[in-house]
Amino acid sequence: MEIAGLQKLTLIDYPGKLACTVFLAGCNFLCPWCYSKELVLPREIEKQPKISEKEFFNFLKKRKGLLEGVVLCGGEPTIFKNLPNFAKKIKKLGFFVKLDTNGSNPEMIKELINKNLIDYVAMDVKLPKQRYAEIFAKKAKIKQIDNSIKLLKEGIVDYEFRSTIVPGVHSKKDIINMAKWIWGAKAYYLQQFRPEKTVDPKFEKVKPYPREFLLKIQKTIAPFFETCQVR
Ligand code: SF4
Repeated sequence: MEIAGLQKLTLIDYPGKLACTVFLAGCNFLCPWCYSKELVLPREIEKQPKISEKEFFNFLKKRKGLLEGVVLCGGEPTIFKNLPNFAKKIKKLGFFVKLDTNGSNPEMIKELINKNLIDYVAMDVKLPKQRYAEIFAKKAKIKQIDNSIKLLKEGIVDYEFRSTIVPGVHSKKDIINMAKWIWGAKAYYLQQFRPEKTVDPKFEKVKPYPREFLLKIQKTIAPFFETCQVR
């Protein structure tokens, strides 16, 4: 478990809760448009100052009664085999736990749910189902992504799906196809792309879509979901 960052207070990362966010370094996807290269590229991860688990838990103990939740963010937290133990220690201190994931490890998500170690999951939908292989080749096994979607839609824990919309990667048709894939889900958010410190530097020059463009598509797909918004 490599903790490469800690945001001590967030009002937006955990819906409805005061939380902190712990950033776990390393990811199995390497999305070229990812804007967290310091948490994804091995040479960048090396440069990051690390926080020990002991330091992190000392911090959490001091925040008991002040913070309500902890967001496990990456990179991709589920690449760590000891994530369930880590989450268990957080839960023992009385915090709610939210997992941010790319959905590549449905077995671990299931274990975390079954053992009551997470309370909320935010899963990224990167591309329409038929286009995953185009960007991720063998890194993303589509069956795994599909299983994670099905698992979350069972609604055992609170959840949301979200997609970062990148000009040049996602067309209007792609967004509609992603929405059709997760049709009937509780919540789906379209997120604006941020052209900063991207894994592939060429994405730093990409201008995000105008908000109006995303709002127009959101109106089209909103009937598929209980909640659908542009972030
Ligand atoms: S966007 Fe998420 S899944 Fe993609 S490389 Fe970055 S951290 Fe990994």
